[in-house]
Amino acid sequence: MSFESLGLMPELLRAIADQGYTEPSPIQLKAIPPVLARQDIMACAQTGTGKTAGFALPILQMLAPQQNASPSPARHSIRALILTPTRELAAQVEESVRTYGKYLMLRSTVVFGGVDIIPQIKALRAGIEILVATPGRLLDHVQQKTVNLARVEILVLDEADRMLDMGFMPDIKRIIALLPAQRQNLLFSATFSDEIKRLANQLLRSPVSVEVARRNAPADLVTHQMYEVEASHKRALLTHLIKSRDMHQVLVFVRTKRDANRLMRELVRDDIAATAIHSDRTQGERMKALEDFKQGTVNVLVATDIAARGLDIELLPFVINYELPYAAEDYIHRIGRTGRAGSTGEAISLVCGDEQRMLDEIERELKRKLERLPLPALAGERKSAGHGHDGHRSKTATPRHTTSHAPASAHAKAHAKPHPKAPAKPLPGGFDFSKPYEPAPASAASTAAADHAGHGQRHTKSRRRPTAALLGGLAAKKS
Ligand code: AMP
Repeated sequence: MSFESLGLMPELLRAIADQGYTEPSPIQLKAIPPVLARQDIMACAQTGTGKTAGFALPILQMLAPQQNASPSPARHSIRALILTPTRELAAQVEESVRTYGKYLMLRSTVVFGGVDIIPQIKALRAGIEILVATPGRLLDHVQQKTVNLARVEILVLDEADRMLDMGFMPDIKRIIALLPAQRQNLLFSATFSDEIKRLANQLLRSPVSVEVARRNAPADLVTHQMYEVEASHKRALLTHLIKSRDMHQVLVFVRTKRDANRLMRELVRDDIAATAIHSDRTQGERMKALEDFKQGTVNVLVATDIAARGLDIELLPFVINYELPYAAEDYIHRIGRTGRAGSTGEAISLVCGDEQRMLDEIERELKRKLERLPLPALAGERKSAGHGHDGHRSKTATPRHTTSHAPASAHAKAHAKPHPKAPAKPLPGGFDFSKPYEPAPASAASTAAADHAGHGQRHTKSRRRPTAALLGGLAAKKS
């Protein structure tokens, strides 16, 4: 199944080709036709499934007939509103809208808190068709009368579950009250709790259900391992793991902003290039931390659950839970950042005695036990026989890994490349990234056919980007 057969316009097909996408992901196959048919949808899809293009492409197509190059703001009213829980996600979504809409004359902008409001006001005043926003800052604009939502035709709630977790429900209700009653609603959520279902019932009219991952199911490509370790030994173990396994890109989760800052400082003291991302940091700091991590200038990004939500980091091989999350669902969100792009990922949890309850809950949710790994000997203890490094600091250490013999520049280069991966094993739905793409036998354009259509693709041109592993990597439920 191709993007052409979804009936997308040539300008969008060109932009998609520029991105190197060879075929639609399952969520795109399932979501694009009903969205183009102006139906409401309730989509269960995690970050990494290609969900952004799943709504951005049809929105651009639906708005395209009225595109115009007029400089008059009156000719550019907001017709699509996309709400996201975090600033980073808002920025990423708007970047995608720009990317896919680059051959169209539709205008978009993004508004979120933590940055100067004046440039946002200017962009809004100039007139735009697509607005991506976090709820709080959007309401600031509403209050200042710098945004007019009276002509919104399409509303997207992206990562709706997280918006509810973050307490945005009252804000969302206030925003919805400002929109025309007659509109199309698209709700995307990684999980479907009862609360989300209630929101969906209130918001959506006869929605088409679109699902590419099993309900609350984590990526099957991820190995789930853990160490039982005293809280006071966690840091030494973390340093040991990063160094002994030569981890170039690892996302480390903690529960609080304070823990994030402290751990970042401690890792830096251990000669590990680390940064942190959490809601107390300024937007500029958060953007920089993310960029440094993506570029490989830093190897470790310490994050809180909220800050990490929605981050699109490609080819992330490791996620470490330095502390388990209070809610088992957050574990699933956390590990959703690894095991992508046909790669295997590793989720490693450091679990101390008082986290037993959380561990039980996670294992119940996963319906499997995390694999218990034997504790290696840590710094200050005897050296583990099985490991080449014991976490002791080397006097000649570079600011990166003591284990690396490569110069810093070579090291940085290595980050740009994917980590070597074990071949992906076939998934329950027959999805196998290790094999070349074979077209699915079914050709119907119905959304049901999409259950089969997500079979993995290989990139034949170097420009082509890998499809994230979660793209149909999981057994799809019938919509
Ligand atoms: P998302 O789930 O929207 O955050 O997208 C995850 C990643 O998948 C992004 O880096 C997209 O650029 C990429 N992506 C989206 N659609 C496709 C596709 N059809 N083929 C390959 N990659 C895609």
